[in-house]
Amino acid sequence: MTMYCPDCKKPLIEFDLGSGNYHCSNPSCLFQYLELMTGKQHRKNVETEEIENRHQVSTLDKKPKRILVGLAIENTLLSMGPSIFDKVTVRLREDYNANVFDCLDNPQYLKQILENFDNSISTVMTKSLKTVLGEFAYYDSIREFLDKLSDKS
Ligand SMILES: [Zn+2]
Repeated sequence: MTMYCPDCKKPLIEFDLGSGNYHCSNPSCLFQYLELMTGKQHRKNVETEEIENRHQVSTLDKKPKRILVGLAIENTLLSMGPSIFDKVTVRLREDYNANVFDCLDNPQYLKQILENFDNSISTVMTKSLKTVLGEFAYYDSIREFLDKLSDKS
């Protein structure tokens, strides 16, 4: 009975007669040998390219900060009154298709919306966020967010 390589379909050759180990003689084939008794297939080690996942790591790392900033915004808005909370969240959704958790990456959304409010409201809001998030300002992303939010330009 002739065994065929499951990969390249060439006939397999038995290592030692009676050993039950059939190997593929095709040098460009990754299939090494088959253990007939167990059905176990051995293949040459393929160097798996290490996936560059630095971007993914930084995205994962940023997620808790997004939540932190989002909750801080939510909390501050609510403390200023449910109508302000509603107005800002509606504007975020309608103008930017966003929510408070997108604000870390897009501080300009919140900034633009606050600029349309009474100046005292945006000042209180910014101050309050700085107080809440100030203790997390050792995170670059949060510091940048606060800087951009209070940037007057
Ligand atoms: Zn083969």
